[in-house]
Parts: sequence; C-alpha cells; structure tokens
Amino acid sequence: MRIGVLALQGAVREHIQQIQSLGCEAIEVKSLNDLSGLNGLVLPGGESTTMRKLLDRYQLLNPIRTLAQLGIPMFGTCAGLILLAKEIVGKDEAHLKLMDVVIERNSFGRQVDSFEVKISADQIGDAIPAVFIRAPHIVSVGPDVEILAQYDGRIVLAKEGQYLGCSFHPELTTDTRLMEYFINMAKEFHPYTLAKSNSI
Ligand code: GLN
Repeated sequence: MRIGVLALQGAVREHIQQIQSLGCEAIEVKSLNDLSGLNGLVLPGGESTTMRKLLDRYQLLNPIRTLAQLGIPMFGTCAGLILLAKEIVGKDEAHLKLMDVVIERNSFGRQVDSFEVKISADQIGDAIPAVFIRAPHIVSVGPDVEILAQYDGRIVLAKEGQYLGCSFHPELTTDTRLMEYFINMAKEFHPYTLAKSNSI
C-alpha cells in the first residue's frame, strides 16, 4: 500500500508518520512523478490559499483532479478538506472541486482559539480526539455525502464515495482510527501509474 501526502505546505510529517506506523509506504507528493502508483492521497491541513498557490506553481491541480476522476481515494484534513470542496462560502471559485460539500473557513474562531475535543463518528468509533486549528466546517452536503460526525451542531467529518474529509487534525494525536479507515478505503483502489494513464 502506497499512500501519498501532498507535501507542499502544512502538517505533512505527522501524516507520513501515521501512515508508516500502520505499515504502509508513505510518499511525499511534491511533483507529478510522485503521483504515480498511489493507492490513496492525503491532502493535509495548513493554509489552503497558500497550498492553492503552490498547487498552481508546481502544476499539480489538474493532475490531482485527473487522478480523482480515475477513482483514487482522497482524504482531506482541515485545509485539505477546503481544497477538496466543490464550493467555499464567499469565494467565486473553489480549488479541486471534487467533494460535493459547501465549506466555510475559519468557523471556530482564530488561531488562539485552537482546541481539542472528543467526537463520535459513525462507522469509526467514539471518543476520537479532534484538534481544531482555525478549522473550517461543512455547511451543507450533496445527496451522496454521508455525514459521519458533527461537533457543536456543525458537520466536521463526511464521506462521499472515494472522498473523506474532516475539519480537524487527526494526525496531531496518537489515535490512528481515522487514518486506518482511510487506508481501508484506499485498499479498494487499484493504483494507476503515469505509464498506464496517458491522461496525467
Ligand atoms: N484556516 C485554514 C485555511 O483556511 C485551515 C486551517 C488548518 O488547516 N488548520 O486554509
């Protein structure tokens, strides 16, 4: 199992460590070639506007969209969820526009208001530690999206087919249940290589 982590900015190392601790190979994705042969791709937290600029600079936006169309599972955490969303409140144009959710940024206060809570998630378990750092939330979801967890009346974890997205940072805790859940999603996916797919 080869899981990529978009490694342009943000909480990359912690995801890499969690993936390795679960016995999978973790690949830092910084260029087109790194997308080859992956079973899944993690889009980490950080700052979505900065990540978008870097996705453009390194010409990764369209290849990631193409890989998504081939069915690769993707897990967006915090800013990564913002990248995945089809719509962002107050913004004319979203980024990857893959997951059928509307996202509002910075919904839980400023950086100083970062906090950790325990949440319960359908299909995953109870008392999952969730670290919120200038976190977004999901305002509304399309018909195929499963809402897996809410906190304070807001949707903070959801799944739509190959896409999993959460508002918080699961990688900053020692609880690996969410990453295990994603790796199980990724097991279903047959990795495409650049050689097999001329489209990216
Ligand atoms: N507020 C950040 C953004 O809008 C996301 C914060 C995070 O990933 N911790 O991109």
